[in-house]
Amino acid sequence: MPGTVKKVIKRSRSTVETVIEHGRATVESALEHGRATVEDALLHGRATVESALHHGRATVETAIEHGLLTMQAAVLHGREDVRIENVPVPKAAPGELIVQVGAALTCGTDLKVFRRGYHARMIVPPALFGHELAGTVVEAGLGVTNFKSGDRVVALNSAPCGKCFFCERGQENLCDDLIFNNGAYAEFIRIPSRIVEKNTLIVPEHVPLEHAALTEPLACAVHGFEDSHPHPGDIVAIIGGGPLGLMMLHVAALYGCEVIAVVKHEGQAEAAKQLGAAHVVKTASIQKAIKDTRAFTPNDRGVDIAIEAVGVPDAWEEAVEMVRKGGTVNFFGGCAVGTQVKIDTNRIHYSDITLRATFHHTPEICRKSLELIASGRFQAGAFITGRAHLYELNRVFEKLMNRNSEIKTAIVP
Ligand SMILES: [Zn+2]
Ligand SMILES: [Zn+2]
Repeated sequence: MPGTVKKVIKRSRSTVETVIEHGRATVESALEHGRATVEDALLHGRATVESALHHGRATVETAIEHGLLTMQAAVLHGREDVRIENVPVPKAAPGELIVQVGAALTCGTDLKVFRRGYHARMIVPPALFGHELAGTVVEAGLGVTNFKSGDRVVALNSAPCGKCFFCERGQENLCDDLIFNNGAYAEFIRIPSRIVEKNTLIVPEHVPLEHAALTEPLACAVHGFEDSHPHPGDIVAIIGGGPLGLMMLHVAALYGCEVIAVVKHEGQAEAAKQLGAAHVVKTASIQKAIKDTRAFTPNDRGVDIAIEAVGVPDAWEEAVEMVRKGGTVNFFGGCAVGTQVKIDTNRIHYSDITLRATFHHTPEICRKSLELIASGRFQAGAFITGRAHLYELNRVFEKLMNRNSEIKTAIVP
């Protein structure tokens, strides 16, 4: 909080001194003559919040309330066009929170959005950008009882309605009215009331905020893994060495599965080994990937579970060819709209293969995910391979586009 106050002071548009200079009354002189309190002065418009802050007599909340603060935030304008702009600090409406962002993490979805300029379901420009964050509450709107100023929280990127057909069946990830929140690449972010109510969690004291910010992507991974109905000891192939593929394989290894990581790049192969993969297949050839993966299973029979975490049709088809009779395939990576794949119906039918495709997360899984991070079993630190200031965001995305060994970069405002 002192850091924020300092910023406010730096940006203050008028000080007590200048007010005095212009012959107007100030809180100072009013107080000096015992004629008023700061509150009085504020009430009568004789002082500014800045001057009060300058003298340490008001809080950041007051400044936010009076709309006097501005902040730096990333605004998405279109394809590969993200600008760091000065925008007002949001105010909390009833039920909402304002969170000072401690860390916001880059994510494959954001990279996709950066490339395409939009995401039909999640973000339409111009809009504040970024969705994986943890931070500190600086303002709680009317009626918020679970959180207060100073609480360290992770606020998820979405929340289900809790009332529709899907929510009532416990399939909240498919909610007809899932709301999304963006704006993590900023100094402050507004958390809509539904997310405050359903998907904002207190971060345990011993968990760094940048680790807590992994709750959202990890929830997707845990959901996808559990949805594949694994058993300890199962041989599981994970196709794809991106952040989610690596998370998925780490989760599977922690669960006691024998993991085969199928990746393309050396950096991914190394990360996969560090995170618990028993075997790594590193190749760009689909046929070789299928053959080599099967070779790690008894009699080349195929894996118990194959999880596709790339989001391209070739990898979807590859996953089907890797799995054993009676096994499960999870198409976890989302392909571009309109993509079609070719699958041998005989193979699916006569080999009794289960096909699943898991999307997003539920409030229950999000809690599980934060617990896993807090347990210390999950190597959160291994997933954050870089740190950068908000104004370096464009450079960070350009770097991520040119494939390298970075997993996630923590953007610190
Ligand atoms: Zn994400
Ligand atoms: Zn719903």
